[in-house]
Amino acid sequence: MGSGNAIRGSRVGAGPMGEAERGEAAPRVRVSFWCANMHETRPSFASDAAVPEMWDCPRCGLPAGQDEQAPPAPPKNEPYKTHLAYVKERRSDKDGKAILEEALERLRNTKSPW
Ligand SMILES: [Zn+2]
Repeated sequence: MGSGNAIRGSRVGAGPMGEAERGEAAPRVRVSFWCANMHETRPSFASDAAVPEMWDCPRCGLPAGQDEQAPPAPPKNEPYKTHLAYVKERRSDKDGKAILEEALERLRNTKSPW
C-alpha cells in the first residue's frame, strides 16, 4: 500500500519533455537587438522560449530593443539628483517652515468628520 502513490509522484516530476529533447539540439532562433548606440547583438533563444523584449547590449550595457528604428532610450541614471537639486533650491528655512505649516493646516482642515 502506498508504494503505488510514490511511483506515480516521481513520474510526474520527471516529465515527458526532458526525455524527448535529450541529446538533440533544440531548435534555436536568433533575434536581433539594437541599443541606442546602434550596436547590434544577436543572442539566440530556444525556439520555444519566450524572447525578452529588451536585451542588455554587451558592448555598452545600454538596454537594447528589437526595433532597429527605435532603440530604447538610455536610462537617465540620476533623476533623483535633479529632484534633490530642485528641493534644495526652493527650501530656504523660511520656505520650509511655511510649507510645513501649510501641510499641517491642510491636515487639520481635512480631518474626517467622523
Ligand atoms: Zn551598445
